[in-house]
Amino acid sequence: MTTDQTPPTVRMIIGGAQVDGADGRTFDVVEPHAGTTIARVAEGTPADVDRAVAAAQAAFDSGWATITAAERARLMFRLAQVVRDHHEELSQLESRNIGKPISGARWEIGRVADVIEFYAGATTKLHGETIPVTRPGFDFTLREPIGVVGLIVPWNFPLYLASWKLGPALAAGNTVVLKPASYSPLTAVRFGELALEAGLPAGVVNVVTGPGGTVGAAIAAHHGIGKVGFTGETATGQEIMRLAAGNIKKISLELGGKSPNIVFADADLERFAAESPYSVFDNCGQDCCARSRILVERSVHDKVVALFAEATKKVKVGDPSDPATEVGPLVSFRQRDRVAAYVEAGRAEGAELVVGGVPPTDPALSRGAYLLPAVFDRATTEMKIVREEIFGPVVAVIPFDSEDEAVRLANATPYGLSGSVWTRDIGRAIRVSKGIQTGVISVNCNNSVHIEAPFGGYKMSGLGRDLGMDALREYTEVKNVFVDLS
Ligand code: NDP
Repeated sequence: MTTDQTPPTVRMIIGGAQVDGADGRTFDVVEPHAGTTIARVAEGTPADVDRAVAAAQAAFDSGWATITAAERARLMFRLAQVVRDHHEELSQLESRNIGKPISGARWEIGRVADVIEFYAGATTKLHGETIPVTRPGFDFTLREPIGVVGLIVPWNFPLYLASWKLGPALAAGNTVVLKPASYSPLTAVRFGELALEAGLPAGVVNVVTGPGGTVGAAIAAHHGIGKVGFTGETATGQEIMRLAAGNIKKISLELGGKSPNIVFADADLERFAAESPYSVFDNCGQDCCARSRILVERSVHDKVVALFAEATKKVKVGDPSDPATEVGPLVSFRQRDRVAAYVEAGRAEGAELVVGGVPPTDPALSRGAYLLPAVFDRATTEMKIVREEIFGPVVAVIPFDSEDEAVRLANATPYGLSGSVWTRDIGRAIRVSKGIQTGVISVNCNNSVHIEAPFGGYKMSGLGRDLGMDALREYTEVKNVFVDLS
């Protein structure tokens, strides 16, 4: 790790002001391409969470929830435009901070603006119902904001995943306390500043930086917070559930995954092989939707492995600032070592490493947290690389002999987030999609995420949904009103 020059100090955003943490401490943010410290960031404390919750409550009380939906929509459209105006700045910040290829960072920041716009439009479409109850009278429901909500997000798609929660939370009339991951706090803080620039009142968006174990836990436990929206590891999600129990907080959890990519012999195998390396190696495999298990019909197993390995070798690993780079470093040296240990475990348990799994030889990448995309063949369901979420560029191939076996293998995991089915038989595609216990399935492609459609997990992959109108409802309370007309 090196320090080229004095890195800038980044402060939290509380009540519309840039503030230091209550005890004045900071933590370093290190970029993973060359190991340079790029910022000193205020290290928040539970006292700062108290301050942020008070600021958010004051903003809630002084009108964010009660201005017209049309006025909230107007401010959110303006916010989306301000994000677009700062598109290149935010993209560069995200790319540098976590080693994300600049092409991917540009795409994500564009989508952040799209998400805010989608929910800006949805603001005026959120409504209750009238219900024909038995008793004579008039019954209707109201969709009301919850109040102050806490949003705790990870580092793999930092601002993009934050926008999945900010959009619906703000559109429904809540005010927020956002905690970014400690690896990737920079775009979240900048977003807090841009929200003010767009005209959102002070205190509507507060950003508290600092460790999950103290700041994150204080948000999850805070009695002034009515809901927590979280994306991260399953074990952290379980801890948040425990902490949230104190005031029966509402919670949405988007957690880990071990998603299957199921290939039947009648599929377009060339298309599968050309597209699917990106379904697991994109973002260096640090993607909850990563198709980290390839289940392939035995009759085409050898052909699929050969095609997939060839396509994997063509994935361009390199400097994130190069627009041609498709896969950059892992987020940190710690994460790189963790993933390398999984590669070792795969070998030790008898899987065959067909390609990758080692650092690149290019001297320009020698200071970074790089690991070449790895394809393991001859894997079995007992192996660690098949059972556990690796969160790195590693895929395991397992053959199957029947449709039933494919579904059984796909479901042989405590996770249930995402997956793909490749077949030309439409009946089979639908049967398998219905059989797989995941919240999101793609047929003949790997597209899991659509801003307009719900995203989330079955089983230990989560609770509740992000995106679409489902997410908007998750950030509301529903009130039933009955009027006696006699
Ligand atoms: P973590 O769960 O460690 O961290 C996520 C966030 O939670 C961070 O902001 C972290 O803060 C915070 N946090 C950590 N401990 C606590 C705690 N005790 N109480 C409250 N907050 C806490 O996940 P990672 O950052 O390692 O992210 C990777 C994981 O996220 C993967 O397992 C992946 O599957 C999952 N993920 C799921 C997605 C989905 O949509 N289902 C999408 C993307 C990722 P800090 O950074 O300071 O530790």
